[in-house]
Amino acid sequence: SKHFPVRRGPRSLLGGPRRAVHAVDDVSLRLRRGSVTALVGESGSGKSTVARLLAQLYPLTSGEILLDGRPARAGRGRAFRAYCRHVQMVFQDPFASLNPVHTVRYHLTRALRIHGRAGNSRQETEAALAELLGRVQLTPAGRYLDSFPHELSGGQRQRVAIARALAADPRVLLADEPVSMLDVSIRLGVLNLLRDLKERLDLAILYITHDIASARYFADTTLVMYAGRMVEGGDSETVTQRPAHPYTRLLLASAPDPDRVTGGGDAGSAAPEDEDTDPAAGEPPSLISPPAGCRFHPRCPMAMERCRTQTPPRFDLDDGQWAACWLYDTPAAVPAGTSGASG
Ligand code: SF4
Ligand code: MG
Repeated sequence: SKHFPVRRGPRSLLGGPRRAVHAVDDVSLRLRRGSVTALVGESGSGKSTVARLLAQLYPLTSGEILLDGRPARAGRGRAFRAYCRHVQMVFQDPFASLNPVHTVRYHLTRALRIHGRAGNSRQETEAALAELLGRVQLTPAGRYLDSFPHELSGGQRQRVAIARALAADPRVLLADEPVSMLDVSIRLGVLNLLRDLKERLDLAILYITHDIASARYFADTTLVMYAGRMVEGGDSETVTQRPAHPYTRLLLASAPDPDRVTGGGDAGSAAPEDEDTDPAAGEPPSLISPPAGCRFHPRCPMAMERCRTQTPPRFDLDDGQWAACWLYDTPAAVPAGTSGASG
């Protein structure tokens, strides 16, 4: 969980009552090597916060992060640096994440040095740079190494940002909306690159997106977040073909035609969506005072009386799919652990 304290109103200067944004509540997920997990939700659902928590950009309010079964260390010590090497992040906007006054060579050499992978000679560094750029399909390396970010296309910049993350030789890549700032025509190419890297480097990739159709195309597992909570999960095919949670159904109904996104491999037809244009009916709730019970109940066409007061736990469905929704509280249903339950 992550709650950000906020102070509002005129009393705030005098130390008024503390309130908190419940950005992430009781979320639990497992990333596996050689697998892409999509975390899907509208903007403000808390999905970027999950990525930042996993990158240890800020501390958890409660809970823990395990890497290979061992608790992740915070702070400045060796264990923390090792964690950061293994868990790398790729951001939404490659232009903002690269320094405009430095070349590709500078960015990548610096990353290699920080992680002790630049080699001992100039030749070794050059070889490491060429290998990195080869991994993101920017070849020959000589054509890109001395370019500045503004001399590259958006897709090339994002490939450089991915190469920089790979310089650490990570096990986990946290990709927060990695293609949503890119032209529609090149999104599929970058997603295909990430999928290829997942296989070749045995990476665990967390793919954060508001575009559930791209999750179906790209991710092995799909998790859906709403208002700071996880509401559904399962393998991507199941979640997108047989969505169980009313919110997932709403997301899919308002997503563009999946055939236009996957396009049968046609790179010219990726999702034409923009995070700011939310086509779903209604608005996500305030996370300062989220609705009691199921947070989706004010928007849910299936809402029942208990939904207003009782938080639904996870119910296991078939084939590893689960949903946190009272609709599945049937005599045959088995609540899956306690991690979704608090009401
Ligand atoms: Fe709708 Fe109730 Fe299920 Fe929430 S728990 S999604 S309000 S039916
Ligand atoms: Mg975000």
